[in-house]
Amino acid sequence: MPLILENYIPDDNSYLTHGKCRICLERANSINFGVFCCKACKAFFMRSSTNKYKKYVCKFNQACLNDPEKIKKCKFCRWDKCLKNGMSINEERVAKLKNPPNKFTQPNPLESNQSIISKQTDSFNCEHYVKSDHTRILILNQLKEITCELYKENTMEFSSPVLIANYIANSCQKRVYNYTEEFNQFIREERFKVFQKHSNSIVKILKDLPCFLNISKNDLKTMISTHFFPTLSVMYLKFFINDDYYFMFDNDVQLNRDVFAALYNVKARDYAFDYLFTMKSLNMSEKELGLLIPFFLCLTSSNLENGELVGQVFHYYKCALFHEFKLNKRTNEFLNKFNQIASFGPLLNKMLMDTAK
Ligand SMILES: [Zn+2]
Ligand SMILES: [Zn+2]
Ligand SMILES: [Zn+2]
Repeated sequence: MPLILENYIPDDNSYLTHGKCRICLERANSINFGVFCCKACKAFFMRSSTNKYKKYVCKFNQACLNDPEKIKKCKFCRWDKCLKNGMSINEERVAKLKNPPNKFTQPNPLESNQSIISKQTDSFNCEHYVKSDHTRILILNQLKEITCELYKENTMEFSSPVLIANYIANSCQKRVYNYTEEFNQFIREERFKVFQKHSNSIVKILKDLPCFLNISKNDLKTMISTHFFPTLSVMYLKFFINDDYYFMFDNDVQLNRDVFAALYNVKARDYAFDYLFTMKSLNMSEKELGLLIPFFLCLTSSNLENGELVGQVFHYYKCALFHEFKLNKRTNEFLNKFNQIASFGPLLNKMLMDTAK
């Protein structure tokens, strides 16, 4: 029976936000003075920058920076945090993320088979969003930082299971299971738990990711289900070690090649493992992996209510991701492999959902 992924995704409108304010952690309304922040912090920064800041003192030995309660009360630390996050009176007052280029079409890797990275030079230019080059880099860097923080936050719980996975992988003991009716039932239930958990983390990440503000609930659901397995692969990539998978169901049963084949079929398993192998071989940094989540989600192009809007958000995260690739001096070989997994993701996703037992 094919899986209906939409059922896992909670009906919750609250994730349609512009992300957290970088200063006080409340909801950001847009980019103000070059930084994602809320109206209150924007007003505070504007007031303070007229020399007022010189009179600020901290009564708590400048320890208010990371306390959302204190930061709004202590002007000294709030001002300090604004500067540390790169707020500058010279930046454009407000830079909304949703000013699209006039002629923008989202690539559709499934239908046209065109390369996602074919217009590589174009990927590094997104001056159509903000006027100055400096502000553009500042915003891209923030986008990367926020995405990476969210990725780390939502994969943190895997750190000790990954250690155990590495230990098991190095011990080289092959785990063989007996596929009784009871065992099959068990692994399907465990898979269900993983799916539910993954869908919750994606929703949690989207709540705080900038740019997803105006995308409708239906479109978000479509995006999450079209790239369910690709985003899951990104989150659980560290469990893929030496060409096998070491995620443990209920801390006990290894989701290895054989168990995976029992959950789908041999052919789908082989495609999935090739996909994971290629993704792993790219050796991506945590920043790159984090950016892959919004990049993959927005790569969805069919069955959307507002494909144009998703295309704009896609373009934005693509700029951030490719800016990071450029900084990391990624080779053409890397980009070709990357293109392969990006194009193949939705097909693999469909194959797995159709063959799921
Ligand atoms: Zn704020
Ligand atoms: Zn203070
Ligand atoms: Zn751009």
